[in-house]
Amino acid sequence: MPVREAPALTGHAVRALYLEAGIVDVAVETADASLLAASAHRWQDMVAFSTSLTGRLGSRQVGEVFGERYELPPDLSYNETCASAASIQWSWRLLLATGEARYADLIERTLYNAFAAARSADGRTYYKGNPLQRRPDHAEAVGDPRCRDEWFFSACCPPAVIRLVGSLEHYAATRSERAGVPTLHLHQYTSITLACPFADGRLGLRVETDYPWQGRVEITVTEAPAGPWALALRVPPWSTRTRVDTPQEKGLAVTADEQGYAVLRRSWHPGDTVVCTWT
Ligand SMILES: [Zn+2]
Repeated sequence: MPVREAPALTGHAVRALYLEAGIVDVAVETADASLLAASAHRWQDMVAFSTSLTGRLGSRQVGEVFGERYELPPDLSYNETCASAASIQWSWRLLLATGEARYADLIERTLYNAFAAARSADGRTYYKGNPLQRRPDHAEAVGDPRCRDEWFFSACCPPAVIRLVGSLEHYAATRSERAGVPTLHLHQYTSITLACPFADGRLGLRVETDYPWQGRVEITVTEAPAGPWALALRVPPWSTRTRVDTPQEKGLAVTADEQGYAVLRRSWHPGDTVVCTWT
């Protein structure tokens, strides 16, 4: 079926997800709004009907394919590691194309609950398939189903893991004009230092957090261009209460705008600190 007409993802999950990433690239390069809308529609359908609680995708082991709507068995779902990586890459492109935080939300969910759990803490072993519940009497995997493998003959996942881990820094933040104001978007909360040309000068930020263990994020401005600019903070969808302290105000009540970001527009100065607490 032509990709403009396909209502939902079907077939091999990893290939379908990588295809969608390419579709968004083509749509952006050619300014093809209908092609972008078709891909965004399938993303919404996937999130509503074919995504596990952890963000994992592709429920059938036979054929490594998407199942029917709501076919998400906790102990039998295949949920390949590569599908998690591909989902993040597709969501990232939709985020860049639209500016909508829901795509960064799925990246967060998938990154911490699907992708990170696929590999061992020491990085030496991994799961190719990731059911939510492992039962030896149900396992169809090669080797010991209770343990991660060092290798698997169909070795697609290790390079996908390496590629994504090696590029994680790129998913944290972007800069753009928002309603004519230079804006730095923080999409993912992690401890980073950031420096880039920005507006008519340079911008530097230091972000410190124990996220996802704690919802507290401290952002310190280390370099700032003159004049007002905006800090756009993604409001995590799991958060029911947001507290923001700025140099001028404590306990500032902020709400997400229509795209899902809390936008703080100020003339920021080096040394200014913003503390966000998502609970
Ligand atoms: Zn794989």
